[in-house]
Amino acid sequence: MNAKPLPLSGNERTPDAELRGIRKVYDNGARGVEHLDLTVARGEFFALLGPSGCGKSTTLRILAGLEEPTAGEVLIRGEPMRGRPSHRRPTNMVFQRLALFPHLTVAQNVAFGPRLHRWPRARIEKTVAAKLELVGLSGYGDRLPAQLSGGQQQRVAIARALANEPAVLLLDEPLGALDLRLRVQMQQALKRIQHDSGTTFVYVTHDQVEALTMADRMAVMNEGRIEQVGAPADLYRAPETVFTATFLGDTNLFEGSPRGDVLDVDGVGIKIPRSGRTVSVRPEHVTVAERVAPRFANRFRGRLEDVIFQGASTRYHVRLPPGLLVIAEQREETGTPFSVGDEVEIGWDAGAAVVLDK
Ligand code: ADP
Repeated sequence: MNAKPLPLSGNERTPDAELRGIRKVYDNGARGVEHLDLTVARGEFFALLGPSGCGKSTTLRILAGLEEPTAGEVLIRGEPMRGRPSHRRPTNMVFQRLALFPHLTVAQNVAFGPRLHRWPRARIEKTVAAKLELVGLSGYGDRLPAQLSGGQQQRVAIARALANEPAVLLLDEPLGALDLRLRVQMQQALKRIQHDSGTTFVYVTHDQVEALTMADRMAVMNEGRIEQVGAPADLYRAPETVFTATFLGDTNLFEGSPRGDVLDVDGVGIKIPRSGRTVSVRPEHVTVAERVAPRFANRFRGRLEDVIFQGASTRYHVRLPPGLLVIAEQREETGTPFSVGDEVEIGWDAGAAVVLDK
């Protein structure tokens, strides 16, 4: 609502948003972010993912100009934003609590920003129609917010935030208040809206599924720092740190002493692709059978300690002598062939293990 359609410098290759060496210490001494370098390309759907308190909202608010960083620089389309207040930045923010104007119609809500900036009437009407069509609400312009469902209200909030055509739309857990079913629908809708509008989105969430399913690229944050940046599939398949490996999905984390290409973990020798003390093996890479194929570099016999039916897949907790626990997850195709107490064999390829830093 507060974006100003600035004729910004920068061509297509200029990143839409850059954070350089950003640090934020609040007045009470709390550390918002420790050190942040981040580049968001034009047209990207970029997610900031991390647990509560890791600094996601602080980062977003610094981009929006709602907080001044203690150190570092923010650039939008190549332009330094230092000292520029929120309402003069080419950004807009969408919050979990929508704050639509209840007494204004849907169309008036969407027209609010352009009216403030005194756009000509014809241009406002055209924009309102285009944005309502973008969010799938053509024909709803005359309704009041109270006459819409929660999901529709959220779409109006997005249309309103896009009306001024901000360079970057900042979204702070916008789906957090919706129930699961609606949230999943809205994830798909938002992804399509982002794609169709071509607007750069920076999207804050603590929900890994949301980030993995929606983002083109994402940053995993932890304690005010970025752990890793990349495409969701790359982060999931090739995490670099223990934090990323355990925060994204579930994993078997093995720590031990390396001897060449073998990691000794509690007396179990695990083949690894390169030397390191800590490796991650995703449960879905571990096969469970009476006898697993000899091609697996890692094969061990153990006893089933737990079998957890999850619908589409089943998890198996397998205890190896002398005590190491390995979790396997298999798709449910033939029904559960094993029960607690069964002796089974598990196997995985050496390449399934990802060596991690701390
Ligand atoms: P997230 O969005 O990831 O949950 P935040 O950016 O809100 O994390 O918070 C990061 C850290 O900064 C937390 O320790 C939080 O308590 C602190 N913090 C956030 N906002 C303020 C504020 N206005 N004043 C003081 N400390 C704050």
